[in-house]
Amino acid sequence: MYLPPECSEPVIIQNKQTMQISSEKVVSIHYTLKDNTGNVLDSSEGKQPLYYLHGFGNLIPGMEEGLEGRLKGDSFQVVIAPEKGYGVRNEDYIQQVPVDAFGGTVPEVGMQFQAGNDQGRYIVTVTGIEGDLVTVDANHPLAGVELHFSVEVMEVREATADEIAHGHVHGPGGAH
Ligand code: ZN
Repeated sequence: MYLPPECSEPVIIQNKQTMQISSEKVVSIHYTLKDNTGNVLDSSEGKQPLYYLHGFGNLIPGMEEGLEGRLKGDSFQVVIAPEKGYGVRNEDYIQQVPVDAFGGTVPEVGMQFQAGNDQGRYIVTVTGIEGDLVTVDANHPLAGVELHFSVEVMEVREATADEIAHGHVHGPGGAH
C-alpha cells in the first residue's frame, strides 16, 4: 500500500456516502421550516444539527418519509400536510378555564403552560381572556399548518445497540 510520507498509518476510508437513511440509522440534518406563505417558523441554521434515530417515530411521519433513502450530502425540500405533520386542528382542544386554575400566575394572551393528564404532558396556549375566564388552546402550535422544509443531510451512521434499545440517539446531539 502506498502511503504519502506525512501519513503514519493507513487511513480507513469509510463508505459513508453510500449509506442510505433507513431504520436504525442515526441521522443528523440541518433544516429550515417555513409555512405556506414563506415565514420561517424554525431553523437549525447557526445551531447544532438535529440528530435523531430514524424509524422510531422521533420525527413527524412526513419528515421521516422524506428522509427515507437519502444520503449524506443530499439537500431537498419536502412539503408536509398537517396529517403527516403536527396533526389537524381539533376545536375540542379549546377550553375555557377559570383564572384561579393558574395558581396565582396572571395569564396573558400568548403565554404557554405545560398541562398534564393520564395521557401525558402537553402545552396549552392562552388565546383569550374574558373576565375570570381564560381560553386555552391545547392544539400543537403547528397543528393544521402545511410544513415546508428545506433539509440537508449532514451525517448518516449505524445506531449502536444501546441507541436502538433506548429508541433515541446517544453522543453528540443525543440524550444522556
Ligand atoms: Zn438512552
